Amino acid sequence: MVGLNMRVSEIFYSIQGEGPFIGRPAVFIRLQGCNLRCTKNSVGWDCDTQYAWDSSGGMEISIDRVVDIVRQYQCRHIVITGGEPMIQQREVIELIKRLDGYAIEIETNGTIPLDPDFPVEKVRLNVSPKPHAPIRPEYIRYASCLKFVVASEKDLVFVDSFVKIYGVEPSRIWLMPASRNVDEHNRNIRLCWEYAKLRGYNVTPRLHILVYGESREGV
Ligand code: SF4
Repeated sequence: MVGLNMRVSEIFYSIQGEGPFIGRPAVFIRLQGCNLRCTKNSVGWDCDTQYAWDSSGGMEISIDRVVDIVRQYQCRHIVITGGEPMIQQREVIELIKRLDGYAIEIETNGTIPLDPDFPVEKVRLNVSPKPHAPIRPEYIRYASCLKFVVASEKDLVFVDSFVKIYGVEPSRIWLMPASRNVDEHNRNIRLCWEYAKLRGYNVTPRLHILVYGESREGV
């Protein structure tokens, strides 16, 4: 499809800081726009990429240009993230086609219906369910990883009820500390750590917070 554009927040080369591929060099394509608003009021912690919320923010660029930028890096691992990348699902499908041969992770909240043409076999879906927005069941089926943000015991109750309702194997669950700085990270990861031992869940830190001390763009 010639001439299709995407709304992009930023594209940068860094290290995957969380989840099953933690520590792996990757090119991040952060898409602009999110259908949720995760804040202390709605979920008990603040989203650390609020600059990617506004669908009219960032920049509109062609998929051709996105692919050109990605190819400038000697890296075959891609993370498509947001915001919520699946609100640009048609464009994401096209981008995946154009990046054939790359390993692709997609970070999603799992609330946007998955198009029947979405090439689930070509990507790893890292799905992060949120308590204030119902997940689409198809994401549970295809998720490589179900990653939950944890700031309090209330979040752990949500994880347990999710596991029970959907009959998910504990080995598919990752607990991740809500964190915009190191203090918050270390406080919350202890909660994740102890609870993961109890339930057989996985824990992921957020390396980029530990390395740079706070949440920021481009890392
Ligand atoms: S779904 Fe993700 S990007 Fe959107 S507000 Fe929540 S944490 Fe932020």
